[in-house]
Amino acid sequence: MLTERFGKFHNYAAGRKARKICMKIIDAHLHFCPGYGHFDELAREAGHENTEEHLRKVYEENGIVCGIVMGNRGMSAGEHVYPDMFRYCIGVDRSYLGSHTIEESYGLIEENLKRDACVGIKLYPGYNRTYISDPVYEPVYELAKTYRKPVAVHMGQTAGSHAYLKYSHPLTLDEAAVRHPDVRFVMCHFGNPWLMDAAAVVEKNENVTADLSGLLVAKTDFSALLNRQRGYLDALKTWIAYCEDYGKFMFGTDWPLANYGEYIELVKWLIPEEEWEQVFYRTAAQVYGLDGIV
Ligand SMILES: [Zn+2]
Repeated sequence: MLTERFGKFHNYAAGRKARKICMKIIDAHLHFCPGYGHFDELAREAGHENTEEHLRKVYEENGIVCGIVMGNRGMSAGEHVYPDMFRYCIGVDRSYLGSHTIEESYGLIEENLKRDACVGIKLYPGYNRTYISDPVYEPVYELAKTYRKPVAVHMGQTAGSHAYLKYSHPLTLDEAAVRHPDVRFVMCHFGNPWLMDAAAVVEKNENVTADLSGLLVAKTDFSALLNRQRGYLDALKTWIAYCEDYGKFMFGTDWPLANYGEYIELVKWLIPEEEWEQVFYRTAAQVYGLDGIV
């Protein structure tokens, strides 16, 4: 993740601001917890407010037609009621699975998957210290297959130091993807910073798509970042391009961690213009079953 190191974005962006965004955008990865102090703070640091009203305005200004909330609250469907511009993935927490019966846990996941608003499942292997190829997840994959909804997996760097990175390394997704060819996996954060390994897994497996969320944190300045982190950003662009298929990538932010305007500019820098519609809208619409709906 890149924090304040993202430096002079505004100068870089100034010349491009004139170009009004007219394409539809789906934010394929955000967190929405209004009223949670920590999230309020993160939103402020990113130049936002952690409220529905504020986000509605931002979505309208930027052509964002839908956001996919990555659930990290409880698992009962009643805890996942969101404003109409959102859909959500039900977050499955290994510690919850460990302290409840399988029937309780999987019944709750299924209750969510039956709803149109629930468009997938989210797993957190690094935080839960469990490989995603662990047998405990097998029934989760069965449910994903039955309901034809994707499994998004946090891959790459973790927030805080309590997680074990070996469980969130993108290479671990390879085994789960091979063993479950009928399940669509989303590699969140493109496995950042293991970009080469992430690209190998995305390019090899037809059933793996990546979201580009979590690459910026807080309000940033892109042109200064380009000066300081040019090698990193070129590597990111290189390994995305290496996959030879922009249909494998989708725009996502990890809001409230990042600023929407700045994130859109970053992804525009990473992706060739002729592929913007694919990455900003089409891939997420297809993977999360929103084509023709949003
Ligand atoms: Zn996230």
